[in-house]
Amino acid sequence: MGLLTNVVTIFANDCLFAMKNPMMEHLDGKFLIDGRLVAAVRADIPVHNPATGDIVGTSGHATLGEVNAAVRVAKHSFESWAGRPAKERAVYLHRLGDLIRQDLHELAHIMTREQGKPLNEARDEFVKLAEICQFYAEEATRVRGETILNDSTNHESVLVREPIGIVAAITPWNYPAELVGWKLGGALAAGCTIVIKPAEITPFTALAIGAKCIEAEIPDGVVNIVCGLGETVGQALVEHQDIRKVAFTGSSATGLHIQRSATNIKHMSLELGGNCPLIVTESADLPAAVAGAVRRAFRNCGQICISVNRIYVARPLYEAFIERFSQAAENLTVANGLENPNADLGAMVSTETLSKTVDHLHDAMTKGARLTAGGSPPKGPNFAQGHFFRPTSLADCTHDMKIMTEETFGPIAGVAPFDHLSEAVALANDTRYGLAAYIYASKADEIHYLSRRLNCGNVAVNNIDPGIINVPYGGRKDSGIGCEHGREGMLEYMSVKHIRTRYDLSGIS
Ligand code: NAD
Repeated sequence: MGLLTNVVTIFANDCLFAMKNPMMEHLDGKFLIDGRLVAAVRADIPVHNPATGDIVGTSGHATLGEVNAAVRVAKHSFESWAGRPAKERAVYLHRLGDLIRQDLHELAHIMTREQGKPLNEARDEFVKLAEICQFYAEEATRVRGETILNDSTNHESVLVREPIGIVAAITPWNYPAELVGWKLGGALAAGCTIVIKPAEITPFTALAIGAKCIEAEIPDGVVNIVCGLGETVGQALVEHQDIRKVAFTGSSATGLHIQRSATNIKHMSLELGGNCPLIVTESADLPAAVAGAVRRAFRNCGQICISVNRIYVARPLYEAFIERFSQAAENLTVANGLENPNADLGAMVSTETLSKTVDHLHDAMTKGARLTAGGSPPKGPNFAQGHFFRPTSLADCTHDMKIMTEETFGPIAGVAPFDHLSEAVALANDTRYGLAAYIYASKADEIHYLSRRLNCGNVAVNNIDPGIINVPYGGRKDSGIGCEHGREGMLEYMSVKHIRTRYDLSGIS
């Protein structure tokens, strides 16, 4: 096939996917229970394309009977899954990763159609999902115990790690593949079985991962997916007596509710909201700081828990930073992510996230903030039906503004000056959240001073990627408890058993 034919074919395929997606049709109104895609008893939640408002499918809304059935099969499969050699579990996870890699194009279309992020970003997320599967496949084979000395020489204490049991994974819509993957990878590697409840806005991405689990021939009942509203389906999982761990990612309010509402003792990891600061010191490389700030404030329309919400700049660099940051924000492209795969920003996921962004903008403006970029939806017929907003920058912000103290989850950042590093630390820590913070500085002593004083789980210095798969990631304060990623992310699905043995060595010569 010639190059032109290739291009025409790819374009034609993309147009076809934009109108219709066979895999999504196959997953419509389905759950994954006991290794099969089954039709939901009740499928009445419409799923929208956030860029056009079109209904792209329908999600099932699981009944209590369906939730119980999913937990029952997960319980039934637990012993045999936990009892397999780790090396065998690793084979399944590797195979799952391979299958995801082979189907990035179609998987990315599904995510973009329900979540709104540009196709290339969706594709990158599935690449990361494949890496997660493969990382945890390797970690599965490296679980270690410990031998501990006793007071008497004929006693020995051995610590072994065992899988916790059945896990409920409850996930949000902003990274609908990765956030399922962190839980699925860690739980399966540890020997747990899992029931996943994805966000009602983005069920198809999770179901597509479920379809890949079937293709990977992961044994029936090990991975189950039920969809529907959090208050009913998620809550039923939280309250289920057979669920031994809830792995939750979502808002701090829901996390607190889940923690309060469990009706038996369960392990919990809660990955919650953020309100993340970026500090730019006088020694910073200004272009690098601007590039980092733009990327981390506006990627995925700012709908990231570790998004840069607020930026504190050393006063001598303040106006230069604002000028460059605002210009860079204005240069970003906003588009329907299906039509422009390389757009910097696609559509925001819903009217709720868009309204909150507008609310935080108005709040800041009425309290004296200076609008330096964006501030409105893009104009034109292509944007009329979707949830679009231009990347927005506000200068001269203060902590009586929502933008500086609450999680906006939108493409907007507030900027303020500081005079001393101690002031920057105080401002950065003046929040109920403690997820991530960013520093741009070139002096080692400044980096040391700031990084040790920031009260949060992750600090990125001269980069904007604090979450990498082989290092634990978690929050402090209202940003959560427990961690995901890394070996530690898998050990969260295991509990420790102490085996103390007395040996009688008297008869041995
Ligand atoms: P959300 O809390 O509204 O919903 C998250 C999930 O919880 C959904 O599946 C929802 O259906 C479910 N849910 C809602 N009520 C429930 C209940 N009573 N019982 C059980 N489940 C329930 O959050 P969201 O709007 O989907 O996601 C955005 C939030 O997620 C933001 O605050 C963001 O910061 C946070 N987040 C955190 C991380 C992290 O790693 N810390 C990562 C991504 C997103």
